[in-house]
Amino acid sequence: VDLPRRIHDAPARQVAKAPDRIALVEDGAFWTYGELNQRVTETATVLSSLGIRPGDRMIIVSENCIALAALLLAASKLDAWAIVANPRLSARELDQIRGHSGARRMLFTSGISKEAAAHAARYGAERRQVGPLAEIGVGPLNESAAVEPVVADPAKQVAVLIYTSGTTGTPKGVMLSHDNLLISARTTAHFRKMTEGDKIYLVLPISHIVGISLLIMTLMVGGTVRMVSKYDPAATAKAIAEEGVTILNGVPATYQRLLEYKSISGAQQFARGKLRLIAVAGAPLDLNLKSRVEQEFGLPLLNGYGITECSPGIAGVRFDAPRADQAVGTLLPGVEARVRTIDGIPTTRGEVGELHVRGRNVMLGYYRAPELTAKVIDSEGWFNTGDLARFDGDCLYIVGRTKEMIIRSGFNVYPAEIEAVLSSHKDVVQSAVVGRAADGNEEVVAFVQLLPGSCTTRDDLMEFVRFQLTSYKRPSEIIVLDALPATSTGKILKHKLAESLAGEAALAPATY
Ligand code: ATP
Repeated sequence: VDLPRRIHDAPARQVAKAPDRIALVEDGAFWTYGELNQRVTETATVLSSLGIRPGDRMIIVSENCIALAALLLAASKLDAWAIVANPRLSARELDQIRGHSGARRMLFTSGISKEAAAHAARYGAERRQVGPLAEIGVGPLNESAAVEPVVADPAKQVAVLIYTSGTTGTPKGVMLSHDNLLISARTTAHFRKMTEGDKIYLVLPISHIVGISLLIMTLMVGGTVRMVSKYDPAATAKAIAEEGVTILNGVPATYQRLLEYKSISGAQQFARGKLRLIAVAGAPLDLNLKSRVEQEFGLPLLNGYGITECSPGIAGVRFDAPRADQAVGTLLPGVEARVRTIDGIPTTRGEVGELHVRGRNVMLGYYRAPELTAKVIDSEGWFNTGDLARFDGDCLYIVGRTKEMIIRSGFNVYPAEIEAVLSSHKDVVQSAVVGRAADGNEEVVAFVQLLPGSCTTRDDLMEFVRFQLTSYKRPSEIIVLDALPATSTGKILKHKLAESLAGEAALAPATY
């Protein structure tokens, strides 16, 4: 099948096939494909009367809901760039995105969260009915917003601007074209054998690349997206049991919380209903967690690897070839990869190095940052992921991130390896390892979150790692915290941990 030209064409194509099939569901409401298409057209008309022109940036501050999907697809119809912002962002972070993007307007889906309403009030948004959408917040018009050129080629026209969650500290605006998003979504949908019979439970925020990609791929195959505005493990378990959900995609924290809920509630085996596929991506997968999840659901937990700049799909574990280890699977069709040393020299197959990727899924660049773009994409189109990886045959393993690698007495230490060992301890919920400069060398420091009420001490953990890690990999210090600082998708903010070691930021110590 040909690729739709722009993202709103994906659901529009379903109208001819099955206008009455359900496209979007949220608590208390649903839209069929016919309704979605009609309402996207109406919303686009109202947006243009609100001053949104082709080439404008438009920020939508929203959790997952039907109105967000309509606004996002209406922006595509108008050739405006959509920026979906998570209401959990701080006022400072949102100001940064607004300033950097030069957005013409901010829209807020009100009535869902206190956070979104508070942001709307701060920017002086007015509550209005926008076309078929229930009241939303409409921010003031930025008269001086510049307009970006609009191009007919869907491979060059920006569809969305995604500000990365910034686990490394500097937010960047990743420009993804219609083609980028559609090609990645189509490849993953094929890879996962998705059909119109699938119903996806969308817990990952649409503000994040994985969330938006799942939305697009489901609409592309004519399936149903169950919008989840706020992740709640109890509601998730209930929806799986009762609503005919077939696919759950999460980050490791999604599954971690499901298991915690189960152990607290004392529930019996999860009722699987029609669930056929559980997948995880976005952060290293802990094997302990993987096997517990698989036991609970009686399904393999399929790992996948991607990055915002690659829209996001790079590799995935095949449905028909599940794995027992941390492998992120094989390359998705159409994605080329090579592994280079940090100095750019080819490695021999199997050696660890930086992973470079090329394909139609690679971003157009970072917005308003051509130098930064040139640092990561070379003249032949190879994008340097900044991840350290190795191949074993066709199978890809992510070993860590270049920026996080610790060089201790000349030895390379990969934090992910140490984290995997620590997290295999029965009382460890999660761990994060960072480097600390010490006398011209780097030390290994581990931060650990323990199960509430556990009696495990730092000395016990030191003893535990001693058996499993060679001396240069063992942490010089283990710091126990009540919780590790994390993004809204559960990714640990390692730069905050590193800053706390350098005395630049304080973290609350564990209270138990
Ligand atoms: P920033 O780029 O600012 O640090 P971020 O880390 O949140 O923000 P994303 O694009 O959301 O950026 O995350 C991509 C990164 O997540 C990858 O580069 C990789 O390090 C990690 N990652 C994603 N999937 C996996 C996986 N299955 N296993 C291990 N690591 C993964």
